[in-house]
Amino acid sequence: EAMLALLTQWAPPVPIKPFKAKKIYSAEEIRAAIKEGALVNYYQPKVSVASGTVVGVETLVRWHHPKDGLVFPNQFIHVAEEHGLINDLTQFVLLQAFTQAKKWQQEGFELRVSVNVSMDNLTSLDFQDHVVKLAADAGILPQKLVLEITESQLMGDMRVSLEILTRLRLKRFRLSIDDFGTGHSSLAQLRDIPFDELKIDQGFVHRAWKDETLRVIYDASLALAKQLNMESVAEGVEDRDDWELLRRTGCDLAQGNFVSKPLLAEEIPEWIKVWLN
Ligand code: C2E
Ligand code: CA
Ligand code: CA
Ligand code: CA
Repeated sequence: EAMLALLTQWAPPVPIKPFKAKKIYSAEEIRAAIKEGALVNYYQPKVSVASGTVVGVETLVRWHHPKDGLVFPNQFIHVAEEHGLINDLTQFVLLQAFTQAKKWQQEGFELRVSVNVSMDNLTSLDFQDHVVKLAADAGILPQKLVLEITESQLMGDMRVSLEILTRLRLKRFRLSIDDFGTGHSSLAQLRDIPFDELKIDQGFVHRAWKDETLRVIYDASLALAKQLNMESVAEGVEDRDDWELLRRTGCDLAQGNFVSKPLLAEEIPEWIKVWLN
């Protein structure tokens, strides 16, 4: 009994944070969110390391949840994929992004707009027709639109996916291989798909200037991009040291919190003005 009293009185030397499990949402909630327009695109700038020019933005979707506030994609994208909602989600994101690209253009900002495409979107040729139509309706040239594909998803039966990507490339949409270095089939995919852009995963960028292992992978990815004539993008650029490494090694584009966190569409023009000053 004395022991029990001791145990219940025991307090840790430092307060333990209450454990808060990451909430995973149900397919029904996500379906409703898509339908009710509760998903909001954020846009993170991609800038030229050599010149500082703002080349484009990457679309990153969030959910403005009435109770939980801002909900991040890792809490709902995989559920959407598993429950057949990813086509609706992607179409919503694409429509908003392409319409926004046109608005920025009309305001005098020529930006490439990147959108994340799930491998589950690439199962029917309808996807290709849909993207082409959305771009045409928005009045945006395909050269201004970038589809980012995560390489770790580039697996399984690839014939249809390859066909869709190849057709989109022939229409002059830009293709980007995302999170490079983290998947299993990266090198094989580079042989099969004519990517325009290679994004070095943030795990090999931040602190690569001081960690030898990260640096070797970063250098190899950059060399590969150059030799295959792809534009190189480093993501997860968090501080000046990261930026300096990109500059010294000749990486084309930088993306990360050192440049800007993801912003709302209406914040982009003001951000560009401040950035260029
Ligand atoms: P991603 O495509 O690799 O996007 C980059 C992620 O890194 C974003 O997380 C971004 O907010 C975050 N990030 C940006 N700068 C920094 C930095 O300096 N440091 C660190 N540590 N992180 C940074 P986010 O927005 O939470 O998105 C996570 C993932 O969700 C994305 O990874 C992408 O794979 C997926 N995703 C986002 N939007 C969509 C979408 O519309 N459709 C699909 N299918 N996937 C999406
Ligand atoms: Ca991406
Ligand atoms: Ca990425
Ligand atoms: Ca990622």
